[in-house]
Amino acid sequence: MTSRITVLATGGTIAGIAGSAIAKDYVAGQIDIEAYLEQVGGLGLEAEFSGRQIANIDSADIGPEVWNALHPAVMEALADESCQGVIVTHGTDTLEETAFLLDLTLPASKPVVLVGAMRPADAVGYDGLRNFANAVRVAGDRQAAGRGVLVVMGDRVFGARDVRKVRTRGTDAFRGFPRESVGLVTPASLEWFGAPWRVDASAQFAWQDELPDVGILFAHAGLDAASVARFLGEDMRGVVVAGVGEGNMSEAVRQELVARRKQGLRVVRASRADEGLVDREPEDDGNGFVAARALNPQKARILLQLLIAHGVDDPAAIQRAFDGS
Ligand code: ASP
Repeated sequence: MTSRITVLATGGTIAGIAGSAIAKDYVAGQIDIEAYLEQVGGLGLEAEFSGRQIANIDSADIGPEVWNALHPAVMEALADESCQGVIVTHGTDTLEETAFLLDLTLPASKPVVLVGAMRPADAVGYDGLRNFANAVRVAGDRQAAGRGVLVVMGDRVFGARDVRKVRTRGTDAFRGFPRESVGLVTPASLEWFGAPWRVDASAQFAWQDELPDVGILFAHAGLDAASVARFLGEDMRGVVVAGVGEGNMSEAVRQELVARRKQGLRVVRASRADEGLVDREPEDDGNGFVAARALNPQKARILLQLLIAHGVDDPAAIQRAFDGS
């Protein structure tokens, strides 16, 4: 059966050009959505596409401006009865942040799938067409609804909460934590691991055009209080500490953050380690800190921004939101 899919393009390597099949350097965000869909037309996929260019940039430059254009475009597609699913093409560098932000702010009514590529479109072994064909299979699958926003890379389907870019190169650059992946996909097959977990769920957060200033403080051996104070400046409303090990920090840093916490700064402890939970510790109560649990620092930042934007201020309430994630 032919699926009707809306494709919202934002750029990235999936739309990148190197000018040679073997060059290392390339420019992301070069092919526009019409040209891309023309190329896809040659694959013989059982889908009809309607494409829209939201941006055509390297995903290092993605932020509130693009998100403010992307979110209403996805909502419009979800409201269109003829649309069965939405695909967002995106650079892989910040794909996990856009995926998680959309996951928290969209209803789970229809499949929404983010996809990218690790090699530019004219490279030998371009992975973008395969990933796109896989994304079409997921976006056209009824069972994909009720799983929140999904990411398709390298024949695997990831939940937005789990997915992280773990390698700088290679087509196996993505992994999931704590769930490794939620499905396996090829252009011709789709295997889900378990049932949908957000059936008919509405958005967890209403969309906010403006998100508060929340920084990520990267902890390291020798980090001192003066550096932390400089980093925080006057106006930061929240900070995620990419702590050492299980969200740890030096005593000097802890004291600086506790002092700022007393002035209203929200502090979340995540980890600079690749994977693993950051659980609450008994000292968090006295410090007024929150533990990020399974979220890495960049995703913890997105959740904290949304919580602050919605007036959630109390550390216990912020912790509940992270425990639920
Ligand atoms: N720098 C690129 C981007 O994120 C990398 C990629 O898409 O793979 O836009």
